[in-house]
Amino acid sequence: VICAAALLSALLVAPLAAAPAGAAGPVHARFESHEKAALVPLLVEAIRFPTVAGDEAARVAQGAWLEEKAAALGLAFREGVPSRPGTVVEIELPGPPGAPVLGLMVHGDVVNAEGAWSFPPFEARVIDGHVQGRGAADDKGPLAQALLVMKALKESGVPLTHTVRLLVGSDEESGSEDVTLYLAERAPPELTLVLDSELPVVIGEMAWNALAVTTDPRPRPRRPLAPAPAIEALSLRAGTTASIVPDRAELLLKMAPDRAGAFEARLRKKQAMPGTTLAFSSDAPGIVAVTVTGRAAHSGVNIDGGRNALVALARLVDGELPPSGIVDLLEVARRCGEDTHGRSLGLVERAPGWKPWNVNPGVVRPSAEDPDKLELVVNIRRPLPWTGARLKAHVEKMVRGWLGPRIQDVALGGYYEGEPLAFDPKAKIVKRLLAATRRATGIDMKPAISGGGTYAKRLPRSIAFGMWFPGKPYPGHDVDEKVAIADLERGAHVLIEALVDLACNEPLKDPFAP
Ligand SMILES: [Zn+2]
Repeated sequence: VICAAALLSALLVAPLAAAPAGAAGPVHARFESHEKAALVPLLVEAIRFPTVAGDEAARVAQGAWLEEKAAALGLAFREGVPSRPGTVVEIELPGPPGAPVLGLMVHGDVVNAEGAWSFPPFEARVIDGHVQGRGAADDKGPLAQALLVMKALKESGVPLTHTVRLLVGSDEESGSEDVTLYLAERAPPELTLVLDSELPVVIGEMAWNALAVTTDPRPRPRRPLAPAPAIEALSLRAGTTASIVPDRAELLLKMAPDRAGAFEARLRKKQAMPGTTLAFSSDAPGIVAVTVTGRAAHSGVNIDGGRNALVALARLVDGELPPSGIVDLLEVARRCGEDTHGRSLGLVERAPGWKPWNVNPGVVRPSAEDPDKLELVVNIRRPLPWTGARLKAHVEKMVRGWLGPRIQDVALGGYYEGEPLAFDPKAKIVKRLLAATRRATGIDMKPAISGGGTYAKRLPRSIAFGMWFPGKPYPGHDVDEKVAIADLERGAHVLIEALVDLACNEPLKDPFAP
C-alpha cells in the first residue's frame, strides 16, 4: 500500500517545471523579471501592522498603506464599505468597460500572537528561506501574492476579458461582519477565489460550532460551622480564543500552607501530557497557582500540532478538588479533550472524503454576559453529514451524563448555526483550478477538504483556492508562523495560471455546476 501523504510529499520535492509557456507565459516572465523580487519586502511590510481584533490604529494604518501600495502598482483603490473605511477595501485591475468581475479575496486581520513565540511576532523576519511573523501565511502572504500577480498581469500586455478585483477584509478572524457589511453596499463579483486556505482548491469546509458551558466560579457557600475545605479552587483561566489550542492554563488554589508541598509532589508524580510543562508558584501563603504550558495551534487545520494546556491541567487535578463550578468546567474540558477528534464525545460519523471531527476545549474566560460567571468554550469542527441541531442535542446529552445532578449549576450554550460548505468535485470551476495548479506546478493534486472555514461560506459565488501547498501543516494561528519563500513564489505562478484562465477568457457559465 502506498501512503498517499508520502507520495504527495515525494512529488512536492520534485524539481519545479520551468515557468510554463502557453497563454500565461508573458505574465510568468514579467513576474520573474520584476515582481518576484518585491514579494518578500511587501510581505514583511504587511506583517508589521499588528492587525489583531480591536487594534483600530493598526487596521487604519494598514488601510492607508494598501491605498499607497495600490497607487504605486497602478491599481485602483476604493472603500467597499464607505461608511466604515477599512472594513473591506477593493483594489482593482480594470478590464474592458462593462466586463464581468473576477474577485480575489483575502483578509488583512490576524489572530492574536500571544503564547511562547521565539521572536517578536510582528517584527517580521526573513530567515532560512522563510518569512516569519504573525500573518505570514494567514493571510498576508496571499495578500502580497495577489497584489504582485495583478501588477504582473497588468504589465504583461495579456488582454483582460474581466475586471480583477482584490477584496481585503478586516475581521475574518474575529467578528466576521466585514462581508455582511460589504454585501449591504456592493454586489459580489461574478466569481471569487478566496486565497485563504489550501491548494489546489477546497471543495469542503467543516462547520464551525461550539459548546459553551457557563458556571459560577465562586466557592460554594458552606453550612454555618462546617469546617473550611482543605483546598479550594479560586479561579481558572485558559487559552485566548476557541479556535486556538490553548498553550496556557492557570488554576489558582487556596490551601493550608502545610499542604502545598504534598499537593505539588502528588501532581508532579502524575503523568503530564507529553509536550506540556507544569509549574507552581505562590504569591501569598496558602495561595498556589498551578500553571500548565502547552503549544498553540489552529484548531481547524492543525489541531494535532498543538498541546492543549487546559486539557493537560484538567487531567492533573482530576480527583484533587472538592466540587465547585471550576471543577465542573475542568471535568467537561477533560472529557471533551480525551482525544482531539471527538471520539470521547462519540463524534465519529463522517461522509466519504471528509476528515475526522476536531474538538478543541479552547478557552476559559469570564462570560461576556456576566463577568462574575466563568465560561468554557469547546470549538467543534463538524464534517458532513450531521446537522448542527443533531450535534447540539448530542453534546448536551453527553455533558448532562457527565455532570449528573451538578448539571443544574451550569448553563449550556454555544453556537451550532454554521453549516459545512461542500462543492461538487466535478464542478467546472474545480476542474479549471485543478488544471491551473497542474500547469504551474506539474503536479496533479486532489481537491482538499478543510477543517478551517473561509469567506467562501459567506461570499456568494466564491470558492477557496490556495495559497498553501499541501503536504505540511498549515501554520496560521500557530506560534512562530512562517511561510517558505519558494512556496510564495510557486503559489504566485499558480495564481497567474488561474487569472489568465479565468480573467482573460470567456466567463464560465454556471461555474459551480459540472
Ligand atoms: Zn485566514
